[in-house]
Order: sequence, then structure tokens, then C-alpha cells
Amino acid sequence: MLKKNQELLLSIDGMSAEGTGIGRFEGQAVFVSGTAIGDSVSCRIIKAKKNYAVGKIIEIAEPSPDRIPSDCPVSDRCGGCCFRHVSYPAELQYKQKKVEDALQRIGHISCPVHPVLESPVTEHYRNKAQYPVCKNPSTGAPEIGFYAFHSHRIIPCTDCRLQPVLFSKLLSVICGWAERFSVPAYDEATGKGLLRHIYLRQGQISGEVMVCLVVTRPAVPHTEELGKALRQCSKVKTILLNINKERTNVILGQETCLLFGDGYIKDQLLGKTFSLSPRAFYQVNHDGCELLYRKAAEYAALSKEDILLDLYCGVGTIGLTMADKCKQVYGVEIIPEAVEDAKRNAKENGIQNATFFCGDAAAAAEKLRKEQVHADVIIVDPPRKGLSPNLIQTVTTFSPKRIVYVSCDPATLARDLALFKEQGYFVSEATPVDLFPRTAHVETVALLLKGKEE
Ligand code: SAH
Repeated sequence: MLKKNQELLLSIDGMSAEGTGIGRFEGQAVFVSGTAIGDSVSCRIIKAKKNYAVGKIIEIAEPSPDRIPSDCPVSDRCGGCCFRHVSYPAELQYKQKKVEDALQRIGHISCPVHPVLESPVTEHYRNKAQYPVCKNPSTGAPEIGFYAFHSHRIIPCTDCRLQPVLFSKLLSVICGWAERFSVPAYDEATGKGLLRHIYLRQGQISGEVMVCLVVTRPAVPHTEELGKALRQCSKVKTILLNINKERTNVILGQETCLLFGDGYIKDQLLGKTFSLSPRAFYQVNHDGCELLYRKAAEYAALSKEDILLDLYCGVGTIGLTMADKCKQVYGVEIIPEAVEDAKRNAKENGIQNATFFCGDAAAAAEKLRKEQVHADVIIVDPPRKGLSPNLIQTVTTFSPKRIVYVSCDPATLARDLALFKEQGYFVSEATPVDLFPRTAHVETVALLLKGKEE
């Protein structure tokens, strides 16, 4: 068995779901972050467990052909871009395999998995960032960055390669304001302080910007000055305070106060306009999202007579971009503000055949079923934890022709697809879509049909 501090030479021949390279030493898996498949590295064991070990690179003895130089000074620490040292084609291969492996190993599903759709943009593609703020231990000034992998230690970074360039400028304005007026950063250890997170969003097509400060209390000094400085430097459309008093990892609190503007920004997606309020979900990669929704629409194959149920609908983006292809859309979403956005979005786009409900998807689906609502096609797009067995059962009692599962976690997708199979729906095909270049995440859209595989 390996021991802590032991040094060894390792060939990396696998990649974990989290983007950590894996090698084997006397049959034992050793995880080494910052490696690529094909690397030969000398490493030091920093954690030795019964079934696996974790190593840290000492030196790359022989680099993999997949390697490229990392162009970010914090990529090995910040917990975001685990593939910044890997070429994009190689990253896509890793992601393809991640989805195929999950479907096979977890779900025992052997459907065709089409080649991953690559993101049209791989740099500065995100439209949303939530930066934690802490107090610099020596100067006391607010410090902004990202959490290190699996930790709450902040790695200072204000010019992330994934974020819009404008965000750096906004951060420096906010930081300057916080220093000038001595606005204290929140301290996770004591629960004291005011400024917890800086939450920024920018519409990719509209360019509209939302600035939301996550604070522990609504009484924030000198917000007038902040508003003035921000509006001078960009197309800031709205400024808000989100109040989070809890000692929790959850970033946003329930309450939001408006400082400037309407409280939301707009963006365009597949020719429709969407209002987005701060607590509403919106896909972070605009161009990649259009690819995803096109694939979902292809799988939904709607006809004019169809009724579409869009579960976990957010601000209604999936259903509303498909509304003109079907008879009726029903959307369900749990965040009240997102439901309000969805209703406004239907109206502003002149869509009359869409109805939105606020509530838990499983409970709402059950209620619709009891009310004899019919659904020909059901699309589900849950958060990472996936669907409950209860929801899967309810969805199948509608007896839809097609179920389209949009997933941001291949492992829970695979688990759920196996349950759908037990309920008489088989996976016809699946397509991974890379909405998150340079990170370990990958989206997948899967088509389920009634009956048995041929
Ligand atoms: N389909 C949308 C949103 C997908 S993200 C889009 O493509 O933009 C998942 C959404 O599910 C989020 O909006 C989240 O608020 C919502 N959600 C989370 N738990 C839920 C639940 N139990 N019932 C209904 N919606 C839920």
C-alpha cells in the first residue's frame, strides 16, 4: 500500500468525473490533479487511503500530447478550469467518455451517444459570476476571487478567462468603493461583516448588466456613490442588494432590495427576449445553450397538436422557444421570481399558449395529472441532483410519446434513465453538449421513447 510522502513515477491513463488525472500503482488508483491522459509524472503522495491515493505533481517527466501551456496564473488552484492545461479537442474527448462511462457503468445503458457538441466559444463565454469576498489578512482590504477546489479558501482572481472582460472592471469599481467607504467583507469564521459575494450578470446579446451585492443586512452605506461609479463605467441596467444573513454555503438569500433600475436585465436567445431577475436561473453559456436547446427541440419533435410539459423551466426559456411549434406549453418552476419572469417573457414575446406554475416539479406534475391534463412531450431539466423516483413515476403516468431529459450531471442522469427504463421508457439516443469549456462539467440531452429497445 502507498504511504504518505512516498514519491513515485506514474503514467496517467484515466480521468475522473471531476477532471483529475488517474494513474495506477500496484493496482491502486492514484489521483493527481493538473495532469492529462498520457502524462508521465513524478508525484508525491499527499493522501493514502485503503482504496485510493492522492498525489501531487513534483515534475512532469514526459508530457502528454494533449497538453498545452496554461494561460492562467491561478488555474492550478482556483477550482474552476481543471482542463486549462489540456487542448480543447482532448477535453472534448474526456467529456465524451465521461458521459458514455456514466451511462454504461451507472445506468447500464447502451444507447448511441453522439459526439459531444462543442461550445462555439471557449473563452469569456460565461454570462454570470458570483465572486466570494473576504478580508485580506494583512491589509484588511476586501479581496475577491474564487474558492479553491473543494474548499472555502479564496484564491484572489479578478480577471478570470471564463468571465466577460467587463467584469474585471466592475470588480475594481466595487472593490474601490468598498475600500473608500470601509465596507467590511464578510468573515465566514465569525459570521461578522457585510459584503459576502459580488454577483454579476451580463446579457450576451443585449449587453445589459446586472450588479447584485450579496450582503448580510439591507443597511449598506454609500450605495448612491456605488451606483454612480458603476453606471459611469458600463451599461449597468440594474443594481440590487441580496440579503443573506444565514451562516450557510448557499450564496443567495431569499430577499432582494432594488437600488437602481427594474430589478432585471434582458437577453435574447433563439430569437426570443428573456427578462432575468437575480434569483432566476439562466444558462451561463449563451451560444452553447442555443445548441443545447436546438438539440432538445429536435428530440422533442413537436407537432402543432402537441402539449408540452416543461418541468424545471426557469424563466421559461425551453418552453417559450418551442411554443410556436406546439399547441400548448405548461412550465413548472420552484423559484417564484423565475416564474414571474417566465410569465412576463411569454407576454413580451407575444406567446399566448404558455402557462407557468410555481411549485415543486414532482408535486405540480402530480397535480396536473390529477386534473387530467394531457402531455404529449415532457422535457425535464433538473439541477445536478436529478429527479426523484416519485417524479419519474408521475412523468411516465402521463404516457408521453417522448421525454427529453436535459442534464448537467451525467451520473444522476444515468441513475434516472435506469429508473425510466423500469417504467417502460428506453433511451433512444443521447448527445453531450459542452456548455462549460475548460471545466469538468458537461451537459447532456437524452431522448426517451415508450417501449423497449430493439
Ligand atoms: N430549464 C431552465 C432551467 C434549468 S435549471 C433553463 O434551461 O434555463 C433547473 C431549474 O429547476 C432552476 O430554475 C431551479 O430553480 C429549478 N428547480 C430546482 N428544484 C426544483 C423543484 N423541486 N421543482 C421545480 N423546479 C425546481
